[in-house]
Amino acid sequence: MTDFPHIASNLAEIRDSIAAAAKAADRPADTIHLIAVSKTHPAEAVLAAITSGQTVFGENRVQEAQAKFPALKAMHPALELHLIGPLQSNKVREAVALFDVIQSVDREKLAQALADEMQKQKRVLRLFIQVNIGEEPQKAGVNPAEIDAFVKLCRDELKLGIDGLMCIPPADKHPAPYFALLREMARRNNLTELSMGMSGDFETAIQFGATHVRVGTAIFGQR
Ligand SMILES: *Cc1c(COP(=O)(O)O)cnc(C)c1O
Repeated sequence: MTDFPHIASNLAEIRDSIAAAAKAADRPADTIHLIAVSKTHPAEAVLAAITSGQTVFGENRVQEAQAKFPALKAMHPALELHLIGPLQSNKVREAVALFDVIQSVDREKLAQALADEMQKQKRVLRLFIQVNIGEEPQKAGVNPAEIDAFVKLCRDELKLGIDGLMCIPPADKHPAPYFALLREMARRNNLTELSMGMSGDFETAIQFGATHVRVGTAIFGQR
């Protein structure tokens, strides 16, 4: 663990900032979950974070997570793993076996495949729908205009429990209006969880109601 001395102090700092942002927003700090995004960083870095009390991790690729997390999960059964990147239908079986939460549900075919596979494996994962909040052609996610219909389809036709919404705002714009928009979409669909905010903007996201912040660089360093 001595190779990663910065991880403990970074985590402590992020937790302090989360607590301060929660207080400023008049929200209890324990309603905000910190997801440590460990993509591209080795299992040893994840272990250093676990040693510092971190139990929730995010990865954006199924294959990379498969190489790192089965052993870590066997050692630390409380570990909770979130998929925060795109999921291809041909990786659904592996994803359902490994992850606890999928934050990137973004199309009917994938939602159907997840419903089928969870039933097959008798595993219930928590699901977030990813919204392409800035309507950017290069980004994944359901378009804002289609979100209400997609939530309804997941619930009524596929009988999927949906926990909340996830978004990644455009990199070159102030994120606040996008966070506000995601919060409103969740509110009108009776969804309680909001995954928004990364290293550069998690405090703003908390101000706008984030329940899950996804922080990579500020914990593990540059990728
Ligand atoms: C990489 C990634 C993050 C973390 O980003 P940082 O800026 O390193 O904190 C958050 N969310 C998603 C979807 C990511 O792919």
